[in-house]
Amino acid sequence: MATIESLLRKTTPAGDCQEWAGYIAKSGYGLVWHSGKTRQVHRVSYELHKGPITDGLHVMHICDNRKCINPGHLVLGTRADNMADMIAKKRDVKAKGVSHPNAKLSPEIAAEIRRRYIPYDRTNGSSALSREFGVSQGAVYACIRGVTWQPPVSAPLVGVTQLAYAPFVAVNPATGRGNPDLAKAHQRRTALFCRR
Ligand SMILES: [Zn+2]
Repeated sequence: MATIESLLRKTTPAGDCQEWAGYIAKSGYGLVWHSGKTRQVHRVSYELHKGPITDGLHVMHICDNRKCINPGHLVLGTRADNMADMIAKKRDVKAKGVSHPNAKLSPEIAAEIRRRYIPYDRTNGSSALSREFGVSQGAVYACIRGVTWQPPVSAPLVGVTQLAYAPFVAVNPATGRGNPDLAKAHQRRTALFCRR
């Protein structure tokens, strides 16, 4: 039975990602023995940190690093979101935008989301925009990522804890605003994750 601690022991930090150092399947996802069967480790990490995964939903990587189990990089999405996400990341170079049957966002909506997105904002955050446009947060993330997700700022790194969990910083290029709550969330997560 995997625990948060046992998962952490088998990871290595890579930027702000926490990469699984155990077995990696051909799919690129890590595998771990958990609750009597072999499971994808990013899904186990999601469950341990955030609770059960609703039936049929995918656990998506906002960092696009399949080995990563940092709970701050994992969001729930549908299969359609996952497809839209792959398209956004150009993993599937043949399928692009609305020409793909699983793409959910029209170019107009995508542009609107990109224009308005402010991380964690009450009316323009991913949650609010996903409600307003009737798509999942995963789809919103997929839409905005290319434009708004930026590499972590080079915060001062003090010890392994901060190295492992240097918070990724979401910045709206239009406003230059980051998210003040993100640091707090990360502190909570770090405290939980690094308990010895
Ligand atoms: Zn990651």
